[in-house]
Amino acid sequence: MKKLWINGEWTDGAQYTTVRSPSDRADVVGDYATAGAEQAEAAIAAAYQASHSWRHSGVQQRADALDLIGSEIQARKTELGTLLAREEGKTLPEAIGEVGRAAAIFKFFAQEALRIRGDKLASVRPGIEVDVSREPVGVVGIIAPWNFPIAIPAWKVAPALAFGNTVLLKPAELVPASSWALTEIISRAGLPPGVFNLVAGPGRVVGEAMVNDRRVDAISFTGSVTTGSRVLAACAARRAKVQLEMGGKNPLVVLADSDLDVAVNAAVQGSFYSTGQRCTASSRIIVEEAIYGRFVAAVTDKLQQLRVGHALHTGIDIGPVVDQSQLDQDLRYIQIAKDEGAKLAFGGERLQRDTDGYFLNPALFVDCDPSMRHTREEIFGPVASVIPAKNYEHALQLANDTEFGLTAGICTTSLKYATHFRRHARAGMVMVNVPTAGVDYHVPFGGTKGSSYGAREQGSAAVEFFTTMKTAYIAS
Ligand code: NAP
Repeated sequence: MKKLWINGEWTDGAQYTTVRSPSDRADVVGDYATAGAEQAEAAIAAAYQASHSWRHSGVQQRADALDLIGSEIQARKTELGTLLAREEGKTLPEAIGEVGRAAAIFKFFAQEALRIRGDKLASVRPGIEVDVSREPVGVVGIIAPWNFPIAIPAWKVAPALAFGNTVLLKPAELVPASSWALTEIISRAGLPPGVFNLVAGPGRVVGEAMVNDRRVDAISFTGSVTTGSRVLAACAARRAKVQLEMGGKNPLVVLADSDLDVAVNAAVQGSFYSTGQRCTASSRIIVEEAIYGRFVAAVTDKLQQLRVGHALHTGIDIGPVVDQSQLDQDLRYIQIAKDEGAKLAFGGERLQRDTDGYFLNPALFVDCDPSMRHTREEIFGPVASVIPAKNYEHALQLANDTEFGLTAGICTTSLKYATHFRRHARAGMVMVNVPTAGVDYHVPFGGTKGSSYGAREQGSAAVEFFTTMKTAYIAS
């Protein structure tokens, strides 16, 4: 039985849930505590109490703790990756890669803790100095989705702690195991009680308790647009600081002059790896007519070679869908696409394997019209739509014709088009001849339009959200 971590103690939840692997329902990952209102209150009170002294803690203490956490994650990469692959269904290499990224994030923020910036300005009044400094926000509530069970908690927890905040971590109910393992490592890093709290539990109970409580100064949320909009409304009502990373319907433009191998690789990796369950997945592939037939044939050929199966088995390219409800959503959209008249060029059917898992053959729809629902709404599964474009200008217009704006990719050998696309794509992140999924851990991350709200996440940008500015006037 894996407990919650509240105020420096392992604490029972209101109940326990059994987590099973999406690759094999017979594989029990473990029994994990879920918090109710009582545990949420205890965690918020502990984080609030601890924030009074933690905000004045020395940066070396924070840096040492984060460095220790990063080192242990790195040392246990394979074990933690196996746990992640079992609970979420990413293939083992992808899962180990995600764990490595979490380790790197902690190491990076160990250094960032030492680099908190400030500014000395001249006053217009003689005899006064102006000093602009960064201070911790206070108590940070972190609400995470299920698709990156350790990397997303890491990229929010590490900067929150680095900059002197106390933390409430609420992972998604579907994937408590990786957050629990992370917490177990954090619990041995020498942080004072209440500085970090694991308060796993239902969003409607724990998430809402954090979002609505005045003692929680800031909410960092990643998840769906629907939930993000609720979180935003609640935070706005009490004027709490909030940052939201939400959905995507990311375009990948393939121009006639592109290197076909590069384009096919970008499309297949970007759309289908991690079972398409990435906010950055390129689910709309917009292809210039002159290369359309050759590109579709090459992608279909590549899809035929992909192996779908148990996340822990050797040689598997694509693991299972995360659960029954996501599988139902994927199949529903596949039916919608067929009903709308899109042509299914590959896959889309449930696959049977020798374990009881949620296996779905990646679906490639071609000859899609940009008005079709499946080309406009986020599906969050291994389903991609190919849309023909007359030329570059038409492709750019199609790429930007979405309420989302997380990533946008282009495959081209033309510097002119690559440069133009970089400037004119309405997305927070632009990829040129690189799959839209897959980002570095130390650079800013985030979108525009309906995909994101508030300050950027990750890397050098994180200081913005996890600190507030103070301006001091000092008579000299
Ligand atoms: P979700 O259903 O919105 O859940 C996200 C988190 O919000 C979960 O921890 C959930 O808790 C919690 N929650 C649910 N209701 C809540 C409420 N009323 N108040 C506060 N919190 C609440 O999203 P998901 O299905 O886990 O994740 C998939 C979505 O995340 C996709 O749309 C994807 O694009 C997006 N995503 C975006 C990024 C990005 O950086 N832009 C990265 C990854 C994923 P429970 O699940 O425990 O109830």
